[in-house]
Amino acid sequence: MSTHTSPRVVIIGAGFGGLGAARALKEQGITDITVLELADGVGGVWRDNTYPDAACDVPSPLYSWSWAINPAWGRRYSKQPEILAYLRQAAEREGLTDLVVTGAAVVSCVLSPDDQTTWTVTTADGTAYEADLVVSAVGQLSNPVIPSFPGADTFVGPAFHSAQWRHDVDLSGKRVAVIGTGASAIQFVPGIVDDVSAMTVFQRSAPYVVPKPDQAYQGRHHRAFEKWPRLLDVERGVTFRLTELLNAALGGQVKWSKALLATVGAAWKLHLRRQVKDASLRAKLVPDYDIGCKRILFSNDWYPAIAREHVDVVTERVAAVEPNGVRDAAGVLHEADVLIWGTGFAATAFLADVAVTGQDGADLHDAWADGARAHLGMAVPGFPNFFAIYGPNTNLGGSSIINMMEAQAAYVAQVARRLADSDARRVEVRADVYDAYDAEMQTRLSSTAWTGCESWYVDGPRITTNWPGKVSEYQQRTATVDWSELTLT
Ligand code: NAP
Repeated sequence: MSTHTSPRVVIIGAGFGGLGAARALKEQGITDITVLELADGVGGVWRDNTYPDAACDVPSPLYSWSWAINPAWGRRYSKQPEILAYLRQAAEREGLTDLVVTGAAVVSCVLSPDDQTTWTVTTADGTAYEADLVVSAVGQLSNPVIPSFPGADTFVGPAFHSAQWRHDVDLSGKRVAVIGTGASAIQFVPGIVDDVSAMTVFQRSAPYVVPKPDQAYQGRHHRAFEKWPRLLDVERGVTFRLTELLNAALGGQVKWSKALLATVGAAWKLHLRRQVKDASLRAKLVPDYDIGCKRILFSNDWYPAIAREHVDVVTERVAAVEPNGVRDAAGVLHEADVLIWGTGFAATAFLADVAVTGQDGADLHDAWADGARAHLGMAVPGFPNFFAIYGPNTNLGGSSIINMMEAQAAYVAQVARRLADSDARRVEVRADVYDAYDAEMQTRLSSTAWTGCESWYVDGPRITTNWPGKVSEYQQRTATVDWSELTLT
C-alpha cells in the first residue's frame, strides 16, 4: 500500500511548458503541485517578448493547447498579446494559476544524499521546496544573448535586447542600429521602421524569408467555428500535416526532402525578387547556406522594410560598439541613437541558471559538458525523479512546440501517477537506454538539414536542441511510458 498518494511535484517555469505539465499532472489526479516562476507572472517567452509586432510563426490553430481549442483567434498567425491572453485565460480556467508562485527564481535542485530520492529546490531568496518529482520547464529560448563586442557597454544611448524591449524609449525620429536578422528582428524591424528616422541593420547571415500565409479571421469564420466546432479540428489537423511535411524534409527522413526544401527555396527566391527591386540589395540578401539549415522565416513585410530609403543593410561584421554608434570591420562608424540587439538566446545552455546536483553529488552541467542530452529529451541517469519539458533534442525546425511539450507532460504525468500508485519512490532512466538514445539522435541528426552551418541548434560538434523526426513519431514514442527503460525502486 502506497504511503503518499500524491507525490509532491515542483515545476520550474510557468510558460506553455510548465503550465501544460501542471495540467497533465492534475488530469492524472496529482494534487500536490507547485509551479515556481522567476518572473511576476505566467507566460514564459510570450510574457517576455513584447517587442513591436511580436507574433508566432506557427498558425494559432496549431500553436495552442489541444485541451484549450480556441474558436476566437483574431488571425491565423496571432500576435504576442493575443497569445499571452489565451495562455492566461486557459491557465486560469483550468485552475493552474493558483499553483504558481511568482518571483521565485530557482537557483538549485539538490537530490537528498540520504534517501537519494527527494529533491530540495531552492529559490534565490533562500526558500526551499521539498519535492518527490521535479519537472524543469525553463524553455530553450529564455536567456537573451548580447555578444561581447569591444565597447559594448560604452554606447551612450539606450541599448536593449529584443526580449527585454524598452517601451519607455521613444524611437520616433531616432537613428536606430539593429544587430541580427533572425526570427525576432524580422518581426520588430517592420514594426518600428515607420517611426525611426534612419536604421542600420547589421546582417551577419541572410535568412531565407518566405511568404507568411497570414489572414485575419472575420466574423464569418468565427460564426462557422461556433456552429461547426469540427472545423477547428480540421484546420488544426491540416496545419499539423503540413508542418509534418516540413519536419520530415528538415529531418532528411524522406527521399523527397531535398525536393521539398528546393520548392521552399524557389518560393523564397520569388518572394525576394518580387519584394526587393534593387539588385545590389537583393544580392546582399542571398543566404550563404543551404535552405533549412537555420530556421526558415515567414514574413510579408521584412523585405519591404529593409528596402526602405532610410534603411541601410550592412553585411560587414560588427567590429566594435562605440559611444555614438557601431563600427564595422571595414572601419566605418554607423552612428545611432538607439541600439537594439536581435541576437537571440543561449539555447544550448540548458538549465544554465540552475545548479542541479544528483546522485552522489553529480552535477548535471558536468554530465552535459560535451553538450546536453536526455532520454526522450526528458531524463538523465543519476538524476532520478527529475524530468525536463522542452529539454535537449525536442525543439522543432518548423512546427508547434506545444505538441511536443504536451507529449512530455503526459509522459511525466504517467510517471507521477506510478509513483503515487506503487511503492516505488525513485524512477531513473537506465544508463544504457540513455546512451543508445543519444547515439540514435546524433546519428539521425547528422543527416538533417541543420548540419553544415552555425545556428543556435548547434553546440560544438553536436546538435543539442532539435528533434530529428516528425512530431507524430515523438508522440508515439512517448504516449505510453516504457517502464523497461526506467529503473523503479
Ligand atoms: P536568432 O534566430 O538566433 O537570430 C539571432 C540573429 O543575431 C542572427 O541573425 C545572428 O546571425 C545574429 N547574431 C548573433 N550573434 C551575432 C554577432 N555576434 N554578430 C552579428 N550578428 C549576430 O534569434 P531570434 O531572432 O531571437 O530568434 C530565436 C528563436 O526564437 C527563433 O529561431 C525561433 O525559434 C524563436 N522565435 C520564434 C518566433 C515565432 O514567430 N514563433 C519569433 C521570434 C523568435 P547568424 O545567423 O549569423 O548567427
